[in-house]
Amino acid sequence: MFTLTQFPLPYATDALSPYISQETMETHHGKHVATYIDNLNKLITDTPYEQVSLMEIIQESSDTPEQAKIFNNAAQIYNHNFFFHGMCPDCTKNIPREIIDTFGSAEKFKEAFKSAATSLFGSGYTWLVRDGDELRIINMPNADTPMVHNMKPILTLDVWEHSYYLDYKNKRADFIDSFLDHLVNWDFVAENLRQ
Ligand code: MN
Repeated sequence: MFTLTQFPLPYATDALSPYISQETMETHHGKHVATYIDNLNKLITDTPYEQVSLMEIIQESSDTPEQAKIFNNAAQIYNHNFFFHGMCPDCTKNIPREIIDTFGSAEKFKEAFKSAATSLFGSGYTWLVRDGDELRIINMPNADTPMVHNMKPILTLDVWEHSYYLDYKNKRADFIDSFLDHLVNWDFVAENLRQ
């Protein structure tokens, strides 16, 4: 039987403080993500999904409304892993050239990303994706994820309230600034752009 286990964080739970507190990280990774994993393991027990990978579960459940619970939990596991790996403590500030060329400057990229993330109504993620030949910033609601729309994820920010509420309360814009100015793992971004 295929049982999903919690993925480890690529840094300590207090490593992103003061921009993301240890309490937020312990709740977000240790409780929210752990619950998605628990839920998915229960949902796929005794189904053909026990035999396939997380990516296959996401793809195969994505266009079947009866399987929305499976899709939501599976995609949330993937999205969170991607989000957490997209950050690091003491990251380099080397914004990849392709981003600067596409958006005009590092500042213009940040403005466009912030504008999207601020305007996302309700729960979801702001993504930088490669869509065909184009680099685009898009918002996706809830657990939606680029791979099921044939887009390649490059970077994401989780703007569900559980992602920032303990540290920033209602000030999502301040959280977005912290993410863009202090937390983005540009090496991870560059690696995704190269692949
Ligand atoms: Mn989250």
